[in-house]
Amino acid sequence: MIPFIDLTRQHAALRAELLGAAARVLDSSQFVLGAEGKALEQELAALCGVRRALGVASGTDALRLALAALGVGPGDEVITPAFSFVASASTILMVGATPVFVDIDPATYALDVAAAERAITARTRAIVPVHLYGHPAPMDRVVELARAHRLAVIEDAAQAVGSAWAERPVGAWGDAACLSFYPTKNLGACGDAGMVVTDRADVAERVAKLRHHGDSGRYEHVELGYCSRLDELQAAVLRVKLRHLAAWTAARRRIADRYRARLAGVGLELPIEAAHARHVYHLFTVRHPQRDALAKLLADEGVSTAVYYPRSVPDQPMFGGGAERRWPEAWRASRDVLSLPCFAELSDDEVEQVAAGVVRACGRL
Ligand SMILES: *Cc1c(COP(=O)(O)O)cnc(C)c1O
Repeated sequence: MIPFIDLTRQHAALRAELLGAAARVLDSSQFVLGAEGKALEQELAALCGVRRALGVASGTDALRLALAALGVGPGDEVITPAFSFVASASTILMVGATPVFVDIDPATYALDVAAAERAITARTRAIVPVHLYGHPAPMDRVVELARAHRLAVIEDAAQAVGSAWAERPVGAWGDAACLSFYPTKNLGACGDAGMVVTDRADVAERVAKLRHHGDSGRYEHVELGYCSRLDELQAAVLRVKLRHLAAWTAARRRIADRYRARLAGVGLELPIEAAHARHVYHLFTVRHPQRDALAKLLADEGVSTAVYYPRSVPDQPMFGGGAERRWPEAWRASRDVLSLPCFAELSDDEVEQVAAGVVRACGRL
């Protein structure tokens, strides 16, 4: 069976380096808010083309703290796409604000900017675009819309580290952006971790307080904060992996090119890379009206697949439902998307086997 993702390959290749990094932290015995975290913050700020980065406990907390740092709270509405991981919207609820869902552009899965404009009310405070699957949202148009209405922009870049729109990295467009280092993300920790990146000194200072009990420096708690730091072991692991990220992204892009060449004309809708976009293929996601039957045939072919996501966000039981009528593209995506194996350690042979399996499976549908 070809795995959907296999982290053991990555960790076997980096084993000595990772153990060395962990030993360094153990020897320093500084585990929270130390030198590794600081160095990682500088490295990721540079990668995202911004001045500041703040390590936090998860991508979810990065969103939550960024929203709070920008003053989003009760009474505010925040616009976010109806198709994403639940955290893009649940974090809006966590700070006491109201998520306002807008439909997606079916070609890129990014929020539909015209729909976002129609959703703006007097209460709208912010927009949370999501760079889903590693494909950037059209950030020039998102930022232009936000400026015209004085809205904050918080990029959900959890799946898109290293991606860019119009040559400018994701993370550099919004007032703040959120990265996730969940183990299966393109840059994954050995546990939970996340980061807020921002070019705004005021936002960085506020996140620095919020992640550490609202502490302004020395046991002086100036506001209600959280306990959400990125620990030194994870930071050390991430610094080892960050040195390989560019090569891993290049490998993902090569796999995507190969799939695209092999799967043209078999009756699948293939992912696109829009003009101005640099896709980092966190997921290689195809579409087919008989998605479940296709997944079953592929399993019989020895190819593992996965569905991100089987429900739109508003159709999650915690929200009100109604996506089929109100966010039809998000609803349709939840019914027909299917992701194929796409990770850097996949061999050429395996890529070929996946492609051949998909061609055969499509022939039988
Ligand atoms: C993974 C993810 C998150 C949350 O990140 P965690 O580190 O798992 O908390 C948020 N948004 C999107 C789009 C994600 O894929």
